[in-house]
Amino acid sequence: AGLFPGRINSQGLDLNDQTTLDATLSAIAEIGAKPHAATALVSGQAVSGTARAVVRPADPSQPIGTVIEASSDDVARALIAADAAADRWAATPVEERAACLERLADLLEAHRLELMVLCVHEAGKTIGDAVAEIREAVDFCRYYAVNAREQFRPVSLPGPTGELNELRLTGRGTFACISPWNFPLAIFIGQVTAALVAGNPVVAKPAPQTPLIAFRAVQLAHEAGIPADVLHFLPGGPDVGAALTASAAVHGVAFTGSTGTARAIARSLLSDDSRPLVPLIAETGGLNAMIVDSTALPEQVVGDVVTSAFRSAGQRCSALRLLIVQEDVADRIIHMLKGAMDALVLGDPADIRTDVGPVIDASAHNKLLAYRQSMKAQWIHTLEAPHTGLFVPPTLIRLNAIEDLSQEWFGPILHVVSWKAGELDSVVARINARGYGLTMGLHSRVAETAERVKSLAKVGNLYVNRSMIGAVVGSQPFGGEGLSGTGPKAGGPHYLLRFASERTVSVDT
Ligand code: GLU
Repeated sequence: AGLFPGRINSQGLDLNDQTTLDATLSAIAEIGAKPHAATALVSGQAVSGTARAVVRPADPSQPIGTVIEASSDDVARALIAADAAADRWAATPVEERAACLERLADLLEAHRLELMVLCVHEAGKTIGDAVAEIREAVDFCRYYAVNAREQFRPVSLPGPTGELNELRLTGRGTFACISPWNFPLAIFIGQVTAALVAGNPVVAKPAPQTPLIAFRAVQLAHEAGIPADVLHFLPGGPDVGAALTASAAVHGVAFTGSTGTARAIARSLLSDDSRPLVPLIAETGGLNAMIVDSTALPEQVVGDVVTSAFRSAGQRCSALRLLIVQEDVADRIIHMLKGAMDALVLGDPADIRTDVGPVIDASAHNKLLAYRQSMKAQWIHTLEAPHTGLFVPPTLIRLNAIEDLSQEWFGPILHVVSWKAGELDSVVARINARGYGLTMGLHSRVAETAERVKSLAKVGNLYVNRSMIGAVVGSQPFGGEGLSGTGPKAGGPHYLLRFASERTVSVDT
């Protein structure tokens, strides 16, 4: 698709097929009941240390497995081994590096059920979200493989007669990949494979909440041919991340997470004057809005709002946080939205009927519930949540102004404000003024309105007359601007370039 004809996105699973559904549900029950054990891997070797329990968001009293996290000594050893492997890996032909990614894509598909089970139990993802997660991870591998083959070929450039000019891309050195729990496989794999195929060794730190699925991904990457000294696995908390970004052995960082952490990483990368200047590729948060005008189709708006705000329990960077509805249709849309919310099934993500699963951990749960409670006077609608597990009831909250949305609330909480005809430009300007720039949605049947919003919106991903989540690799390159990230976009044609150094060689013949 797109710039790379012939590349096909992963097909996923058809859960409408009873045999496929039965196999999926029994895998979820069987594999989910087994204990899973992960450990930091330095040059492919398990480290020693104390195992910590990894729990299920749907029922934190039930561990799903254990992890032995990386110590500061493990971090140091991994960085030394990665550095020693850097020149060899950079000199490995791009064709071989790309072939590793393609084998990894096949292995991810072959282990699809096991990986889906980990998504469901460890990250609390619904089964539908788990299908999409594996597809996206596979797509990243294949897309970056094709992309690297195209882009890492030396290019001859014109010059005066008798001079040969060539531009080559090469690896920069060890990359630290620091990934979030909300796409514990897809974003983890996306960052790691991009850095690897560009010729860099990788030290990968998954989110502390989701080390098990990332561990399996690293094992499969080694099986696919990525050398063990080129990809190290360093699960742990903020101390591991801080040790990585503080090290002069790190030549680039790919990070997805909060804006505050991205800023701290940027400071750390610049804190030592003797250190090379290295890139930070950060994808961070958003205050994502959807504008709805009075020409929009209400049924379509409501379906897209529910998907954008509540699917994945609102735990996507791209999720809708602020619905801005034209006053004339606000009552009608809100009335229909309440009905659609009432139809949502909250519950165990391992149940195929579940639409909204739990939030990731107790800290997120407490924060979201406290915020929701503090806004009680402005509730428009809310649901009942199951009593066990880390559930946050989807909630609709009325605000008076765009500026009243205090911060990004990373859960199933949607705010609503209204606007009047004639205010379109100022609505977009006020959203832009918040400084974030990740996703924006628009529902309108007026072509001029869409054109106007396209020209004014300062966001990385603008979605017109559709939902605003679920960017597809190679079709909807994803990532924001301003407080939402540095670019380049994941799953887009410019992503790999930031992971590489460019070298020009000019020879007088
Ligand atoms: N790419 C995802 C989407 O389009 C969001 C990624 C994220 O949450 O970081 O929904």
